[in-house]
Formats: sequence, C-alpha cells, structure tokens
Amino acid sequence: MKCIITLLVIVVIALAVVLIKEIVSGSRKKTQNRAGSGTGEIVIAEGGAGNAVEGLSGEDGVEGTAGTVSGSTGELIAQADLLAAQYDYDGAIQLLKASIGYVSNMELQNAVAGYEQTKTTCASYPVDQVTHVFFHTLVKDDSKAFDGDEKEAGYNQVMTTISEFNSIIQQMYDKGYVMVSLHDMCKVNEDGTVSRKEIYLPPGKKPFVLSQDDVSYYHYMDGDGFAQKLIVDENGEVKNTYIEDDGSISVGDYDMVPLIDTFVKEHPDFSYHGHKGIVALTGYEGVLGYRTDEVYRTRESGRVTHYQQQFFDSHPDFDWQSEVDQATAVADAMKAEGWEFASHTWGHINPLGYGYDATVQDTERWLANVATVVGSTDVLIFAFGADIGDWQPYTSDNAFFTYFKSKGFNIFCNVDSSQYWVQFGNTFMRQGRRNLDGYRMYYNPDMLYDLFDVSQAWDSNRPTPVPAM
Ligand SMILES: [Zn+2]
Repeated sequence: MKCIITLLVIVVIALAVVLIKEIVSGSRKKTQNRAGSGTGEIVIAEGGAGNAVEGLSGEDGVEGTAGTVSGSTGELIAQADLLAAQYDYDGAIQLLKASIGYVSNMELQNAVAGYEQTKTTCASYPVDQVTHVFFHTLVKDDSKAFDGDEKEAGYNQVMTTISEFNSIIQQMYDKGYVMVSLHDMCKVNEDGTVSRKEIYLPPGKKPFVLSQDDVSYYHYMDGDGFAQKLIVDENGEVKNTYIEDDGSISVGDYDMVPLIDTFVKEHPDFSYHGHKGIVALTGYEGVLGYRTDEVYRTRESGRVTHYQQQFFDSHPDFDWQSEVDQATAVADAMKAEGWEFASHTWGHINPLGYGYDATVQDTERWLANVATVVGSTDVLIFAFGADIGDWQPYTSDNAFFTYFKSKGFNIFCNVDSSQYWVQFGNTFMRQGRRNLDGYRMYYNPDMLYDLFDVSQAWDSNRPTPVPAM
C-alpha cells in the first residue's frame, strides 16, 4: 500500500514538473517572438526563467533534474543559434554569457567559442554597394489580374505574381543575399548628421534592401486577384485575407509580408539581425487595407472620391476608429517581426511636379493620417521613382530637402536601374531601387542576372508582350 502511495506521489510530482516546464518554456517562446532581435533586458529575464525551472526541480528532488538543466541549456543555445544564424554573433555571445551558470557550463562556453570563431570569418560589406529591390502588391490570382480589362496592362507592367516572387526570393537566397535594413547602412546622429554603419557578413553573403510600395490594397484593385488586407491571425502572425468568388474569406500568405515571414521562419539566415523589408505607404485610401484616412472619418464633401463613395454605400456599418485600431495592431505586429515603414507620400505625388506648397500639405497629411497609425519614420521612398534633385548630393539650397529634413526624414530612395546606387551626404543617405516587375523582367532580363534568372521566375500566365511604357 505504502509503495503504491509513494509511486502515486512520485507520478504527481513528475507531472507537475513537466507542466511547469511547459508553462515556462511556452512563456519564453512568446517573449522570444515579441522580442525580435533580443535585447539585453530580455536576456536577463530569460536567464532568470531558466534558473527558476532548475531551482524548482532541485527542491523537489525528483529524478530528471539533470534532464531539465540540459533542456534549458539546450533552449538557451537554440536561441543563441538563431541570433547567430542571423549574423548577430555579439547578441548570441551576450545571451549565453549573461545566463546564470555560464562559468561552469562547458556546453555554453563551447557554443560561445563557436560564435566567436564564425565572427572572425566575417567582413564588413561596403555599404555603398548595397542593392535595393522593390515590388508592388503581388498578384494572387493571375486569371483575375490578367483578364483583359482596362487595368490589365498596368498590372502586367508594374506588378509581380506570387509564383514569380517566390522564385525570385528563393534564387536570391541561393545566391547568398541577406535582407538588411536601411538603418543597418546608416546611423542618424543626435545633431542630425548621418554616418555610415558597418554590415558584417560571412564570405559569400551579400546584403540587400527589400521594399514594397503602396500596400494600401486600393479600391481600384477590388476583384482583380489581389489580397484584401493584412491581418493579425489568432496565432499573432501577420497574414492576408483574400475574398473568394463565393464571398468567403481565406486567410494565408497572399502578399509579400507574410510570404517573407514564412520564408524567414524556414531560412532564418535570409534576415540580418531579424530585420526584414520596408513598406512604403501612401495615405489617401488608408494603409494595409484599412480605410484609416481622415476622409473616411469626415466624409468631407469635395474630397470623397467615386471609389470612396462606393465603399461607404456598400459598408453602411463602417467604423473608422475600429479600422484605425486594427491597422495599428497589424503595424505593431509587423514591427515586432522586423518590418519597417516609409512614407511614399500621402497622395502618391512627385514633389517637384506637384510644387512646394502642395508638397508641404501632402506631407502634413501623411504625418497626420499615416504616422499616427503606423508610427513615425525617417525614410521617404518617392512615388513614381521621382526625386527632389538630380544625382548630385542634396544641398541646403534645395527647399524640398530642407523641408523633408525638418520633418524628420533622413533617408531618401528613388528608382535607379543600376546594380546599386548609394549616396551619403552629411545629413542624409540616398539609395536607388530596382523594380522587379513584369516590365523589367520582359524588357531587361540581362539587368537582373546578379539577382536571379528571369527565365526561371517568369510566370507563363503573364500576357506577352508586356505593354511598352
Ligand atoms: Zn507607388
């Protein structure tokens, strides 16, 4: 009888230990998800959690204590391995060195020695040779985008299909490309000056910047085979919704952001320090598929467009505040996953053609309607591949530059077909971007050979010839 009771007690204690272990490791995983590239604070919190498990099982004197300890060492090393896979060797080393028990744990010390060894193979990549590629919203259903209507030509020229995108990204990964942030390339100092930063990568790896324009899911694209919006799903992941023919809504990877999130989960070494792309947002029809602009709140006569009126008519219970809240939640979830945002101007304008005063008003609208939803940014990605000057560095004589700088913009991107174009000024960085769309792939496949092989990526559903511009 005594024997049975003892056995039962042991079983109950063992179950309790397993349960506690699961809870702790579960909460740790959540912390890791939210943290992105781990900061010092999280390192300490996680070291503490690992130690708590150790202490608990020790007190209970249950067999399997050793397993628990090596389990937490294993988890710690797995976290550090992920940081190192994303080239953050210092972060990996710091994480392990800060953990309690490091001085007496050979496994942790060996891991640190390994990271230090790999780090010595890395070299600083010339930041003025970093290429930058961009896409528009990806075509999810070719048969709807390329259906012969009046919008087909435009989609065929400037859009990329999901199958093309997947091939391009896989090929770039295979060639050693690694996504970096514009903020990995330069640093803005307290006094407003901008200086170069260093990007350290192992041999064979090449940094590139990824951006996507107009992720607004504009009204005109409804029914043309594009995603409806970005959402945060029940697992806290950013996904797209898509409206099927029967009106039902599917959730999945139907545009660049979730496609890249999924790709990086499978290939963490495609991302430098956990950084991903930068999304260039206009404001006039809201952001990320949400109708957040002030016009949707005020419905000011004279400003409501034909498309917007149609939207109001078909959405009688539209709630502007809830739209803003949802868009902010998506933006926050994206930022936690390594994404950044840029201004693409509020009204998709070319400043020089639009005029100074109109550009000031447009910028005020971006700051009041977009920055308030997704957060502020110091990156301006011009629409139409425009710029506010020629190839020579901006000077303080340039009223547009002086104005944008006064509004907090430090990094400016135009469109340039060369392999890379980066310019550092005293108070700014500029970079040219390369369009990877139907037009470029059809007319200039030779200009893309450093990135991918067009013949492998080309979607045979795309009508040819791609219309000339
Ligand atoms: Zn655009």
